[in-house]
Amino acid sequence: MTPPREQLEADVLIVGAGPAGLSCALHLANIIKKHNESAAKPELSTENIYVLEKGREIGAHQLSGAIMNPKALAELVPDFEKTAPLDTPVTDDAALFFTEGSSFRFPITPPPFQNKGNYVVSLNKITKWLGGLVEKTGVNLFTQFGGAQLIHEGSGIAGVITEDKGLDKNGKPKDNYTPGYELRARVTVLAEGTRGSLTKQLVAKNKLDNINPQIYSIGIKELWDVQPGRIQPGYVAHTLGWPVATDMYGGGWIYGLANNRVSIGLVIGLEYANPEFDPHEAFQKWKTHPAIKKILEGGKLVRYGAKSLPAGGYYSMPRNYVDGGLIIGDSGSFLDSQRLKGIHMAMKSGMLAAETIFDALKAGDTSAKTLSAFTKKVEQSYIKKELWAVRNFHQSFKYGLYGGLFHTGLQFLTGGRGLIDPMRVEAGYRHYHKIDGHPAPERFKGDGKLTFDRLTDVYHSGTRHEEDQPCHLIVHDLNVCATKCVVEYGNPCQYFCPAAVYEMAKEKDGVKLKINAANCVHCKTCDIADPYQIIDWVVPEGGGGPNYEGM
Ligand SMILES: Cc1cc2nc3c(=O)[nH]c(=O)nc-3n(C[C@H](O)[C@H](O)[C@H](O)COP(=O)(O)OP(=O)(O)OC[C@H]3O[C@@H](n4cnc5c(N)ncnc54)[C@H](O)[C@@H]3O)c2cc1C
Repeated sequence: MTPPREQLEADVLIVGAGPAGLSCALHLANIIKKHNESAAKPELSTENIYVLEKGREIGAHQLSGAIMNPKALAELVPDFEKTAPLDTPVTDDAALFFTEGSSFRFPITPPPFQNKGNYVVSLNKITKWLGGLVEKTGVNLFTQFGGAQLIHEGSGIAGVITEDKGLDKNGKPKDNYTPGYELRARVTVLAEGTRGSLTKQLVAKNKLDNINPQIYSIGIKELWDVQPGRIQPGYVAHTLGWPVATDMYGGGWIYGLANNRVSIGLVIGLEYANPEFDPHEAFQKWKTHPAIKKILEGGKLVRYGAKSLPAGGYYSMPRNYVDGGLIIGDSGSFLDSQRLKGIHMAMKSGMLAAETIFDALKAGDTSAKTLSAFTKKVEQSYIKKELWAVRNFHQSFKYGLYGGLFHTGLQFLTGGRGLIDPMRVEAGYRHYHKIDGHPAPERFKGDGKLTFDRLTDVYHSGTRHEEDQPCHLIVHDLNVCATKCVVEYGNPCQYFCPAAVYEMAKEKDGVKLKINAANCVHCKTCDIADPYQIIDWVVPEGGGGPNYEGM
């Protein structure tokens, strides 16, 4: 007999311990402390705040460039500069245009690429540090627990059920089987980051989508230790052009950290037409550009990772409140894709959610009506101001690189309005062209020094999953992959996945999809970019996934 689920009750349950979830928890705990010190009633307890994180430790699933605008952190932890692991302030910010063999530095760095006053950080280290501050307040932080199912109640939510632990690959209980907990809360905050698996369900069920659906990019990153003198700490550059085709959205970054460490990466909009395009390969090619190669040569790859990011901005922001629930951070589309900045907005959205929740708890009313104050607070904050100014930015690139830059220029002059406002888009996976029966492209192998194949890179992501567990990548109809997709699109999952999870294995009578789920780096690209939308990414057993130490 399977043991019954244990039930726990909390005031507030935060799903996801990234910048958004942790800032929400810390700010709420600070407000509650002040409230209790003033002897006002009702007394609230920080112990009734729970935070769940699926990673093996806080920060394990944090992947970002990362340049951090410190303004939200300065509000949350006013003396942050004394203890936060900030790495290095930005000292020089360049915008570079790449052709295949050369690069051109814009004489004046365009405003979106200006970063003076910001810090180059490891988001893994920042969130670990924030997690420590949260723990000190008495909040219950549980790592290695994924929110697997929402508890729906009426038209809202009332908590989550965490993933069952100790199931074998056929879903049968093993000796260590423990059913997931039923965690009920007066307010459940979805802070799952990009393409949250619970957020996706809630947005679909409650029809929370805005006028545009969410659209996404994928970012592929490597961290390198390079020879002394190759890059100044605090030098940051963003690149446009080669090898990203002019009908696609994309660009690279080079961020100099302390101690001869460099963060490099390429972001590609997940709305390209060629289903056999391979973002990982494009990133590897980008590294062979003379401007990048001269930094990396003689250096050593330290870490690899990949993660999607929500690029839709203001017009893709779902309604962020329901009865008993709020959506914050990347899950709620709080990211400026023009500046590639989401950290400070995730933090600020978490803080505004905390203030909303505190008022709701005090009033004993956590209905959607009360929680809608969150949206009002967002509208009055700098989040709205920043997102409004770029509300049509990403959509403009449906006209290609030059069309996109033209529209962006006009939007800059008109406070974001541009020629068409609101500019509409459709979901990225709708942009694939059908293949015309040509043979599958050769896979990229890399030279093993400067460039790598996907498996070598995955090895450097520290990814680990319990092998004997149900597959967390649910393909609802494998037949579609082997019959329809192979003919129409050539199985794009083989190409867009930056972790070699999906493979079309040759069989006697055709091909069959093989899923190497243990490689999954939790980027969620498959859930986003599958042309038939038959892949559901669900949480694996807690603690599985990458280990983005130092990223
Ligand atoms: C390649 C790349 C480069 C970027 N560069 C920059 C940059 O330079 N500057 C900048 O400001 N922003 C940058 N961003 C954006 C920034 O990283 C995000 O906006 C920010 O991390 C969002 O914070 P979050 O807390 O909403 O989500 P996340 O940071 O994604 O955190 C969500 C957390 O929730 C956990 N989680 C998810 N689902 C569940 C679940 N069901 N149960 C339990 N836990 C769960 C995840 O493991 C994760 O730890 C970049 C993003 C990418 C992908």
